[in-house]
Amino acid sequence: GLSNRLQNVFGKLRGKGKVSEDDVNEAMREVRLALLEADVNFKVVKDFIAKVKERTIGLEVSKSFTPGMVVVDIVNKELTELMGGTNAKLAKSNKPPTVILMAGLQGAGKTTSSAKLAKSLLKDKHKPLLVAGDIYRPAAIKQLQVLGEQIGVPVFTMGDQTSPVEIARQGLQLAKDNGHDYVIIDTAGRLHIDEALMGELRQIHEVTKPDEVLLVVDAMTGQEAVNVAQSFHSQLELTGVVLTKLDGDTRGGAALSVKAVTGCPIKFAATGEKIEPLEPFHPERMASRILGMGDMLSLIEKAQSSIDAEKAAEMERKMRTAEFTFEDFLDQMEQVRKLGPLDQLLDMMPGMGKMKDMKNLKVDDKQINRVEAIVRSMTKDEKRKPEILNHSRRKRIAAGSGTSITEVNRLIKQFDDMKKMMKQFSSMMGPKGPKGGMK
Ligand code: GDP
Ligand code: MG
Repeated sequence: GLSNRLQNVFGKLRGKGKVSEDDVNEAMREVRLALLEADVNFKVVKDFIAKVKERTIGLEVSKSFTPGMVVVDIVNKELTELMGGTNAKLAKSNKPPTVILMAGLQGAGKTTSSAKLAKSLLKDKHKPLLVAGDIYRPAAIKQLQVLGEQIGVPVFTMGDQTSPVEIARQGLQLAKDNGHDYVIIDTAGRLHIDEALMGELRQIHEVTKPDEVLLVVDAMTGQEAVNVAQSFHSQLELTGVVLTKLDGDTRGGAALSVKAVTGCPIKFAATGEKIEPLEPFHPERMASRILGMGDMLSLIEKAQSSIDAEKAAEMERKMRTAEFTFEDFLDQMEQVRKLGPLDQLLDMMPGMGKMKDMKNLKVDDKQINRVEAIVRSMTKDEKRKPEILNHSRRKRIAAGSGTSITEVNRLIKQFDDMKKMMKQFSSMMGPKGPKGGMK
């Protein structure tokens, strides 16, 4: 994938004393290929490479950083910029209700995202109303009603015999009458963009004057998502994009080019079929994730919802300073296990995405149990000072944990590797995080 690819490139660059134009060219060749393979629009790639090169060549590299780190930092910042820089917030009308029009092709996730957005608003103490504007797809109204009931948000429908334009008009009126501060209008999609669809959307737009026109696009469609965004944008002024199905095996290319091509910010990211609050899209996090530096912030956020804040902060500090012991390792493992899908979490942790790929570290719960058993068979001293683990101690631990000496050796080796990787990561990040001193 893209992130592994970039990790390899920068792995090569890291550790070199001085960056030459050749180095930059070689790295950029790899970056270009990786981005193209990830289905990023070729014009976007071209501009991107040019910008990074311009900023990199002739750059003075201070003693505390390797040229590789500097290039990673620049690529990271440019990727972030490409995706809009910062999170673009949902519009808010100063004359409520705020009207949100959802548009997109069939199956993109409009109805699901409408419900998720309603749930987010509800969570923030708003009073949203959902309007069922898809009268064409069989059971589309029912689908929205079921979701509305599930999250406790009312759904306005007039059946499938009234035109969507009239439904939208009356839905908006009802929202005003009943004091709803947000109206989310779900609309019909087509398999392809056609004049009938666009005409109808334009009429709904005309009648409801939405504050937000959110285009819902399926990230899995890659380059096609960008084409779709471009055609919608040319016919209907979009204010934002909801990128769905980022949980699947997506190549990420869509996220990189949608904003660059349409100028329209990605405001939300959807990552599942379950109706959870819609997640705001964070360009800087996406960029770090793409670069394989780990999505520390997302991890910490996720951690905070299931672990207490103090523990999470401590975990972050330890990961940054790489000063943890086998005791922390065990503790962390327990926390991680509490958080759910291990693979996903490892992807977010610095260096871990890479570790997961290593053949000898298969992530499965059974193996984690064995690892836990090994660590629990260590004495306090051994956990705190792993360097004292000589052969006889390892033999005793293997016997105590019901594992083999090979397994014990392997775990200690992995632990050492992990510490090394974290050290590398923390020196790359600097003492104040990713931006420390590298601005
Ligand atoms: P619409 O035709 O645009 O209204 O699309 P729907 O909301 O009906 O979604 C189409 C299908 O995609 C449904 O099966 C949804 O459960 C699924 N879906 C929507 N959003 C996501 C997402 O973020 N991730 C995944 N994996 N599936 C999604
Ligand atoms: Mg729908």
